[in-house]
Amino acid sequence: MYHHSKKLMYTVRVDEPDVRFGQMLLEQFGGPNGELAAALQYTFQAHNTDDPSRRDLLFDIGTEELAHLEVIGTLARAHLAPLKKPSITEAAVAPMLTLVGGGGVGPFDSQGNPWTAAYLKISGQLEVDLRSNLAAEARAKITYERLLDLCNDRGTNDALQFLMTREIAHMKAFGAALESMNLDPFEIGKRDPSPEFVDSHVDSSTGDGELGRSEHPDWLADALNIEPNPVDPKQTVRTK
Ligand code: MN
Ligand code: MN
Repeated sequence: MYHHSKKLMYTVRVDEPDVRFGQMLLEQFGGPNGELAAALQYTFQAHNTDDPSRRDLLFDIGTEELAHLEVIGTLARAHLAPLKKPSITEAAVAPMLTLVGGGGVGPFDSQGNPWTAAYLKISGQLEVDLRSNLAAEARAKITYERLLDLCNDRGTNDALQFLMTREIAHMKAFGAALESMNLDPFEIGKRDPSPEFVDSHVDSSTGDGELGRSEHPDWLADALNIEPNPVDPKQTVRTK
């Protein structure tokens, strides 16, 4: 059962609305790495999980992402407020948001692309889902970081810093859930890989390139039990 509390998860204060930034914030509202996608991905994964503690974690974080959607939506609406009664200059910054959306938020990204369920990674295999979630949180974290780099509004940055931080907390929780399953890092699914093909690397990019030649560094050779063939990049990188 869902219950909505009117209090925001984090207080939103926007000192100076900026329509351009409001439009960018929509990336984290209805974009591929945004809060709506995160909320639905984890919630649907929870439905597919039988293990009670990990199912609970997925529901907890999925629901928290809905609370983040509310925070980012509130931020975006504050920045888009001038579009309620825009000058032609303001409207020209975001014509779709002005003419179609009336300055409101909706299920689309910063470029107006409609949200799609194709963003969601739901495999029905818990350890695979948890790995997807670690990557999803990492993408959300750097998107918040890039938004923070572009904004000087203190109130806005305060809320974005909170949202960015929570994504790291989620990464820690998903990481702990994965670790607690005691699986080998490459133990995926049920079937064993074929031993004659698993420890090999196909050297499909050969010859000298823009960055010089580098084949089979030690770390790759060690991982795959192949012959190392290190090349000193200093000797092979050509400068223009
Ligand atoms: Mn979030
Ligand atoms: Mn998250």
